[in-house]
Amino acid sequence: MTLTAGRCLVTGGAGFIGSHVAKRLFEAGCDVTVLDTNAGGGGAVEGVRYVKGNATNAELVDRLVAEHDAVFHLAAMLGVKTTMDAPAEMIENNVQGTVNVLRSALKFRRKVVFASSSEVYGKGRPPFSEDDDLLYGPTKRLRWSYATAKLLEEFLCLGYGRKGLPVTVVRYFNVYGPGQKDGPYGGVIPKFIRAALAGDDITVYGDGTQTRCFTYVEDAAEATIRALRPEADNEIVNIGTEHEIPIMEVARLVKSISKSVSKIVRVPYASVYPHGFEEIPRRLPTTDKMKSLLGYRPKVDLGIGLGLTLQWYQGNRKQGG
Ligand code: UDP
Repeated sequence: MTLTAGRCLVTGGAGFIGSHVAKRLFEAGCDVTVLDTNAGGGGAVEGVRYVKGNATNAELVDRLVAEHDAVFHLAAMLGVKTTMDAPAEMIENNVQGTVNVLRSALKFRRKVVFASSSEVYGKGRPPFSEDDDLLYGPTKRLRWSYATAKLLEEFLCLGYGRKGLPVTVVRYFNVYGPGQKDGPYGGVIPKFIRAALAGDDITVYGDGTQTRCFTYVEDAAEATIRALRPEADNEIVNIGTEHEIPIMEVARLVKSISKSVSKIVRVPYASVYPHGFEEIPRRLPTTDKMKSLLGYRPKVDLGIGLGLTLQWYQGNRKQGG
């Protein structure tokens, strides 16, 4: 695609999705700067400039935004477990970073693409469409604090849009692929792959009938970059696929493609989340806006994507965190 922005700032560009966005932008001919608390921590893309720092640093953000034409704001504390363990830190960090990016972008009139999450749909009724009503659980269930913070940040984006800032919110649906963290704070696919490779039990929470629609990270990165299009200004766009799969089925697929001897075991939620948890039984997007506004359809199906991800973990056994 033709990019309208020559110089791009990617906050969180050393992270999982951000590093793929940074790489793709660089390959498309952009000058790319990454702002990340983990900058320099390995996995760097050659040709990309890395600045170590937090988006919560307003002065730093202001200086960097001034030097670029567009900002991809992906920096955030994330993960269900992080959210349950440190909700206050997560909310302060994420909201402050987004406020800083939006303020600077408005000042210098730069386009912003903001990374939100399908978590904002909460317990709504699938398929999840961008204009749907949203429904969360009670406040004491800290699980919802991440979604609430992301939603507040979405409203901030739209509010800045009202002031004249060109901004697009993208809502990711279960992105997976090479580079995803495989520690306790990571997503289900790296956890299953790591267990399968080690011959450990593959732990399915609950009965495994809960479903997700997994999006390969290269597809997510390409769709994110396309959000620069002016047609997507002041819009919210789901990024995902409509291929819905039960988690038990994912466990079987991982076991089969890795030819693992691991056992698949069901574990109760209470043993993982002693302070209470609410599962989202089905998470399924509508993707009409992604297709019409971003002109994008994901290309990598789950079988292929899992194979590529598996290969990556086989070559990077020591990575993760
Ligand atoms: N899950 C699982 N075993 C694990 C980790 C996760 O069965 O070791 C389930 C989890 O309960 C959820 C799904 O896999 O139903 C996706 O979890 P993840 O944390 O990747 O993302 P979520 O969609 O919940 O944000």
